[in-house]
Amino acid sequence: MEQQTNRDRRLKDSTIIAHAGRDPEAHSGAVNPPVYHASTITFPSISAMNKARQDRFNNVTYGRIGTPTSYALEDAVAELEGGDRSIALPSGLAAIAAAITAFAKSGDHILMVDNVYGPARKFCDQFLTGYGVSVTYFDPHLTAELEPLIQENTRLVYLESPGSQTFEMQDVPAISALAHRRGLTVLMDNTWGTPCFFKSFEKGVDVSIHAATKYIGGHSDLMLGLVVAKEDHYRTVKSNAMLLGLCAGPDDCFLALRGLRTIEARLRMHQAHALEVANWLTGHPLVEQVLYPALPGADGHRLWKRDFLGACGLFSVVLRPCSEAAVAAMVDGLRFFGLGASWGGFESLVLPMHPEDLRSATRWEPLGPVLRFHIGLEDPRDLIHDLECGFDRLRAVQQAVPA
Ligand SMILES: *Cc1c(COP(=O)(O)O)cnc(C)c1O
Repeated sequence: MEQQTNRDRRLKDSTIIAHAGRDPEAHSGAVNPPVYHASTITFPSISAMNKARQDRFNNVTYGRIGTPTSYALEDAVAELEGGDRSIALPSGLAAIAAAITAFAKSGDHILMVDNVYGPARKFCDQFLTGYGVSVTYFDPHLTAELEPLIQENTRLVYLESPGSQTFEMQDVPAISALAHRRGLTVLMDNTWGTPCFFKSFEKGVDVSIHAATKYIGGHSDLMLGLVVAKEDHYRTVKSNAMLLGLCAGPDDCFLALRGLRTIEARLRMHQAHALEVANWLTGHPLVEQVLYPALPGADGHRLWKRDFLGACGLFSVVLRPCSEAAVAAMVDGLRFFGLGASWGGFESLVLPMHPEDLRSATRWEPLGPVLRFHIGLEDPRDLIHDLECGFDRLRAVQQAVPA
């Protein structure tokens, strides 16, 4: 019988999160890798410089290409998600742009899911098309029906499951299998799933994209993107990012790695609180629908349960039809829900959404106003009370001025 060595066994996520990307011996024993502020890297000799430059993605040769700080973060995230390597970029949107343009060149066609993050759609429609790349958006519920949409020049399929506004789930393994049969590369925005709760590479994804601005940073104080991939796709995206001159700032890399150390603990709490608030909202007379795949009975719950290891704290609510003034009365007076974009920090947020403006292959028939909530680490009983008071204000406005 072969002896199991310490090296062969895949570590559990919590252990990876505590240990990956750390090398105290290399840094005078300090637990965390320090922040390397560096542009110029100097060498003791020409031969040492030439040797380092032969393998630039594994050595420190120039600040833009990588420092011990960025490599530490990249290694840790890649190990957690199950990829080989990752690339830190200045924002989530930069990660999306660097990944797509690595695979789609002039004359190519890409398939993009219709519930995609708004600025990613804008990047395709207002930038990519100008460089001769055509885009077809598709209904997120399609799987086998996608095949007829594949053209001779189609290069990639871009997914976002669930979408971060209306939370439609995609059958990622089925779509990936089809895409691979047709020689396409599968890119996915995995910001909602995080490297903890959706293991992209086990589900057929080739290139996983994160807005590390959200849960990896986790504290609403940095902008960062990450692209995670196996070695060959990593080289393609990394080379492209280097051509574009994209690199992440050292302080943001440091903060993101610090955030990563608590990501699982935070996510479990976000999930528990979000479920409690979402359950309460589900029974509320002013609520038409709760869009949260982790909620039993919700749209996409079966796929979420099959493919995901957990859920984050982001979901949307469709209200019963009511006036804009009534929604404003509710939202403006909330005490614990900040009104603003982004999510994934420790605090709760609310944001009115207009999904009808951000799709072309499908239609969003407005049943009522949509509010997106990020449920933070506050006690859910306080959050529910805050929302209850908000609904009272909504009701008061609605009754004063009949719609
Ligand atoms: C925020 C977000 C992005 C973009 O990230 P930035 O760091 O803000 O550029 C991409 N995808 C999703 C799903 C997001 O929520």
